[in-house]
Amino acid sequence: MPRPPKHRLVEELPTSDYFKPAGIPMRQLDEVVLSIDELESIRLKDYEGLDHADSADRMQVSRPTFHRILTAAHRKVAEALTQGKAIRIHGGTYRIAGRHRCRECGHVWTDAEDGVVPSCPDCGTEDILRAGPRRRGRRHGHRGPRREG
Ligand SMILES: [Zn+2]
Repeated sequence: MPRPPKHRLVEELPTSDYFKPAGIPMRQLDEVVLSIDELESIRLKDYEGLDHADSADRMQVSRPTFHRILTAAHRKVAEALTQGKAIRIHGGTYRIAGRHRCRECGHVWTDAEDGVVPSCPDCGTEDILRAGPRRRGRRHGHRGPRREG
């Protein structure tokens, strides 16, 4: 059976989907649209600090594809920051990641939530538990890098 075209895997959806410069009325603002998968590339590479290879693996795309996504994302963020534009985070070609756990060997991994029944990448069994979407628990405390000073 041919596999459907691969969508980019996204582990975390943004907590905010709109950013705007302070003090400027919306009607005077231009905006750039950053897709969900473009934001994910920034999150993996720039926020989590992964290299291109690991980031590409996490999104289940090739390295050149990841590089292309990240470059587009950087350009949009740069355009917004330097030109005083708002950023809307919206759309894109992606699937939400879910966690799976193997009942045989206990291996835990992340894959698309909506895929066919996966098999364990470690031992190959299909005796798999859905471990639910990847969550970091409640977002009370740690919301990002600590501010310096
Ligand atoms: Zn296994």
